[in-house]
Amino acid sequence: MSTTVSVDLGGTWLRIRRGDGIERLPSPSAIRQPGTSADDLLRQLVDTLDLHVPQGAAANISCGAALDEQNGVALGSGPLWGGAPTGEIPLLHILSSRRPDVRWRLVNDVTAGLASFALGFARPTDRHVAYLTISSGIASRTALLTERTIPVDHRGLQGEVGHLRASTSAPEAVRTLPCACGGIGHVSSISSGPAVQAVADVLDIRYDVDTFASSLAAGDRDSSRLLRTVVEPIAELIRTMITLDPRLDRIGIGGGVAEGLWEFYERELTGQLAETRSYADSLTPERVADIIHLCRPGDIDTLAGADAIADGFLRVTKL
Ligand SMILES: [Zn+2]
Repeated sequence: MSTTVSVDLGGTWLRIRRGDGIERLPSPSAIRQPGTSADDLLRQLVDTLDLHVPQGAAANISCGAALDEQNGVALGSGPLWGGAPTGEIPLLHILSSRRPDVRWRLVNDVTAGLASFALGFARPTDRHVAYLTISSGIASRTALLTERTIPVDHRGLQGEVGHLRASTSAPEAVRTLPCACGGIGHVSSISSGPAVQAVADVLDIRYDVDTFASSLAAGDRDSSRLLRTVVEPIAELIRTMITLDPRLDRIGIGGGVAEGLWEFYERELTGQLAETRSYADSLTPERVADIIHLCRPGDIDTLAGADAIADGFLRVTKL
């Protein structure tokens, strides 16, 4: 049997698992090396993987980029290769050209997160299961467990919700915050990790990432208002997802922002979801608790998720 190497390529860290050992290296990314060209960063990535993947191995890569998983073409990633659209990057072709002996398999990191979530937390009766990650970026992915598929569009995408316009009752200064993609008032401009500071600034709220949880625990009103504001677009998004898909039985919420504020994020999110606003609302607190799973640090393992996708646990399909 060939060796399997699992790789998680994020904006900050490149993690490589082989056997029981995990090696963590600084990512060759735009975040780490501002000013370095995308071509140069890609060359560094290929050199590093070439060094770490043994002859004839299978390499499953969870990749923090919008990605067409069927042909291994990356459609860009701000954290990895810079904000400007870099055009299509034929990542699978580049890796296969350098190392034709390796069986490369590229998986988007949200897809890998979804596979890990479904493996760990889906119940036998769950029909559709979604995973929403809230970290430096925001994206969701939904799997149809009834047919073991993750449907994607003609470009290979699904659930790129971070760059939709945020639904929010916040003041205009919040609604017009810029997004890393160049847009304005996107879900990511209000609810992502970097956005919390930006929202705090325009609301004139003192914010410190290290003491935010303890301020919330102490019942600080400004901190509660800040949390309510950054959670609102996420709650509206989830409300829409559930409204449009009556078979959506389970939604995992992960990523550094949600996991880091775990109990506070869960209380705020489930509270907003259970608000009754019209006769059409069916989200009782019990139903919300049944659907929503707030992930704790360690619940989601994208390396295991990438392996599961490569093993056929869920099939990404354009059909
Ligand atoms: Zn955006």
